Amino acid sequence: MWNANRAVVTILFLTLAASSVAQNPKPPPTARQTTRKMSYPAINSIVRQIDARNIERTIRQLVAFGTRNTLSEQNDPKRGIGAARDWLYAEFLKAAETSGGRMTVEKQSYEQPKAARVPQPTIITNVVATLKGSQPEATDRIYVVSGHYDSMCNSPMDAKCDAPGANDDASGTAAVLEMARVMAKFEFDATIVFMAVAGEEQSLLGSTHFAEQAKQKNWTIEAMFTNDIVGNTLGGNGIRNRNSVRVFSEGVPTNETTAEANTRRSVGGENDSPSRQLARFVKETAELLVPQMNVMMVYRRDRYGRGGDHIPFLERGYPAVRFTEVNEDFRHQHQNVRVQNGVQYGDLPQFVDFAYVANVARVNAAALAMLAYAPAKPKGVTLISRLSDDTELRWEANKEPDLYGYEIVWRDTTWATWQGVKSAGNVMSFTLKGMSKDNYFFGVRAVDKEGNRSPVTFPRPVTRNQPADRTSTTSANP
Ligand SMILES: [Zn+2]
Repeated sequence: MWNANRAVVTILFLTLAASSVAQNPKPPPTARQTTRKMSYPAINSIVRQIDARNIERTIRQLVAFGTRNTLSEQNDPKRGIGAARDWLYAEFLKAAETSGGRMTVEKQSYEQPKAARVPQPTIITNVVATLKGSQPEATDRIYVVSGHYDSMCNSPMDAKCDAPGANDDASGTAAVLEMARVMAKFEFDATIVFMAVAGEEQSLLGSTHFAEQAKQKNWTIEAMFTNDIVGNTLGGNGIRNRNSVRVFSEGVPTNETTAEANTRRSVGGENDSPSRQLARFVKETAELLVPQMNVMMVYRRDRYGRGGDHIPFLERGYPAVRFTEVNEDFRHQHQNVRVQNGVQYGDLPQFVDFAYVANVARVNAAALAMLAYAPAKPKGVTLISRLSDDTELRWEANKEPDLYGYEIVWRDTTWATWQGVKSAGNVMSFTLKGMSKDNYFFGVRAVDKEGNRSPVTFPRPVTRNQPADRTSTTSANP
């Protein structure tokens, strides 16, 4: 069935691609067209099973702990961050029971020494549910999705005030728990980590600890999503938006080396970091599988001058993006609960749109499922730098047994998303005749036999006749 569809799709593309080259600058077909004929029954089932009622229940329960400030009580069963931690742990364990032993849950704790927002040594605990991938070639490949379960009111140091944190960030935490509940029953090739972290408001402490542990253990984290403030649909500006979510991604990698910067200045690529490819991947996957939602890509690491739990991952070289609602209302973030001049302040559940949180969870879940079913993004992708009207790409072979092959994608250099696609087959190099590398950006992605596609890898240049290996990176011809 899929073979027939694929053949039709491929012919469609080849035809459209050929005509677009001939009639340049008419835009080539969009990447969305390439996948329209494929069906993804498992991912559709995941998207359908995500339930706003579970998300509402989680948010109300987290709010009911009074405060989840990281400095609050750790041993009271009813109030404080310790009660929230234990409740989340028990909920993730319930999800794990349906996984046939593939999901394990742990409390990842460490003692945070005194710091700017930590007046005395404090235990920080992340609740981490790991759904192990079943394909031996893919199980070491990890995708992480997180929300932070700590909260604050006006002062991050105030451990006593009521800090409901319904939106910031019970919303993100509830989305992650709901994804774990639904996805635990599905068997993926690669591994997915569902995580609720603490210490975000104390300066990203829990996420930093997790990312540093991952780096020290040499984990292959190929994508990380943080969901933070994903529940409010009526902005402080009075604008209501229930069907868009912002996905923030950096253009230039936080950990870019001097050599990589020199290459980028020579051939471009300030809009093609692995995190930006991840944002495009999320947008394309949502268009295909969660059509009620629009992904608004924002070309920034985070909101203006602000930060989140994806940053410690970026600092360690892991691709990562942030999900946040489109219009925030600052009367309901980091505020003591109070009425002032007739205005209700505070991060209360009445200002959370639970159906919207469910849709954000669906966008996350569709992208995570596609990532964990698909082959790894291609490695060692190079573009041969020589004077030619053609574009030659090379890459290393993927190792997954269900690999179908590779697709070449391209776009105009000023375009936000991939516009054209050409199936290359199961090969390790491909030449686009008559398409100049000077006029487009190119990338390569891997596809499996069910049509699951990896994110795109942006090539680095190598000069002609040099082997396509890591030692041969050069800048372009002068
Ligand atoms: Zn937050």
